[in-house]
Amino acid sequence: MEKVLLKNIDKPDAYKIDAYIRYGGYKALETALKSDRDHLIQLVKDSGLRGRGGAGFSTGLKWSFIPKDPTIPKYLCCNADEGEPGTFKDRGIMDNDPHLLIEGMIISSFAIGAGTAYIYIRGEFVFGIRRLQAAIDEAYAKGFLGKNILGSGFNLDMYVHSGFGAYICGEETALLESIEGYRAQPRKKPPFPALAGLYGKPTVINNVETLSCIPAIVEKGAKWFSSIGPAKSPGPKIFCVSGHVKKPGLYELPMGTTIRDIVYNHCGGILGDKKLKAVIPGGVSAPMLTGKDLDTPMDFDSIAAKGSMLGSGAVIVMDETTCIVKMSYIINRFFSHESCGKCTPCREGTSWLTNVLGRMEHGEGRPGDVELLESLCGNIFGRTFCPLGDGAVMALRGALKNFRHEFQHHVDKKACLV
Ligand code: SF4
Repeated sequence: MEKVLLKNIDKPDAYKIDAYIRYGGYKALETALKSDRDHLIQLVKDSGLRGRGGAGFSTGLKWSFIPKDPTIPKYLCCNADEGEPGTFKDRGIMDNDPHLLIEGMIISSFAIGAGTAYIYIRGEFVFGIRRLQAAIDEAYAKGFLGKNILGSGFNLDMYVHSGFGAYICGEETALLESIEGYRAQPRKKPPFPALAGLYGKPTVINNVETLSCIPAIVEKGAKWFSSIGPAKSPGPKIFCVSGHVKKPGLYELPMGTTIRDIVYNHCGGILGDKKLKAVIPGGVSAPMLTGKDLDTPMDFDSIAAKGSMLGSGAVIVMDETTCIVKMSYIINRFFSHESCGKCTPCREGTSWLTNVLGRMEHGEGRPGDVELLESLCGNIFGRTFCPLGDGAVMALRGALKNFRHEFQHHVDKKACLV
């Protein structure tokens, strides 16, 4: 498959605008600006592009919810917070090919009629922040941003807004609160951001990888995009693979590539040729799968049918020596630390999960602790304000479903099974 998202990743000068243009960049923008806004929204709908940040919602449909009234200010926000452990695909684009994202954002802003666009990037990405700001400055100098872009009459200002490293800022309404200068906590929905988002105005929030697909869709067409991978989840996808594989890294592959193909073909198999024990398919919120699921296609629907989530496409591979109790403890400690504290089931529940998992891991588990974990999960799931609490529970439930005996062993023998 021809690469479109990582096509410039190995070109050391692609981050500069002249090189990006030499490699064919900003042609899609010229095409888009000559086009009609409704046509662009229909094009993205027809392509079948689904959001690459985790939720998998139709991008074109999301755009179509934005009111058409030209007198209402509208915003585009790029979610570049990328805080899900195991996920590093957006950083790959921003660090190496920032104009791909910027071009996608200009086209997307034009399609929805936004006059201001923000890139909300996590504060730890210092290199990416500098790269993006320099690229935005170059785009202004070339007339791709600012007033009357390429003589089209379209005006757009773009800003980089850096966060401060809180995972919750990746939740779209917490992200909006953070840009507005408030404490980053999720908002009640409805109203949804398409009607009342940033500063109470219609706002589209899309992920970096999603927006980076737009130039290729404009250039190559909706049919080209929808012909890649499964009909209901088409297109190229960046999988970021980490853990016990020989060649971890970023892989742009057709959506629907199987886990086996990713792990054993593209990543060279398991380190030391050990046995595979478990795979987290979409970042640590996604329930883990096991060796029997290796032939599952990596797309939204196939992974959901297995009881997990494609999420961000962050594939974390664990070999036979991995202690699932320790892994669950580390993941839950993360969620507990990152809980924003707004709602009780998440704030208190994730702390209690971490306490119980911690004593199990440290050889101090008590009889009934496995059942206590299950009970705590039941008191959190579906009762929290945003998906963070549910994500913590789903990850732990996945571990308990497949490896309950390891948790019980920690309680009974005060030691690891592996
Ligand atoms: Fe905050 Fe957790 Fe409640 Fe989300 S679920 S609002 S992160 S306390």
